[in-house]
Amino acid sequence: MIIKLIVLGVVFYGVYFIFFKKPNMLKNKYEDSETVVECEECGVYISTKEAIMKDGKQYCSKECAKLK
Ligand SMILES: [Zn+2]
Repeated sequence: MIIKLIVLGVVFYGVYFIFFKKPNMLKNKYEDSETVVECEECGVYISTKEAIMKDGKQYCSKECAKLK
């Protein structure tokens, strides 16, 4: 009987984590995609996913980063 209660507790804990952790993960992903940075060269706003990193600064394109 006690083992059953422990198993039930673990199941509830798992369900709790699934329901309360997933929205947070989705929210974090959403926030990541929404993050915008300003190009150091021309001032255009670009998402961090599109940004090109060079010397710790972010640029909108290879032309701005002078990587060509
Ligand atoms: Zn630029």
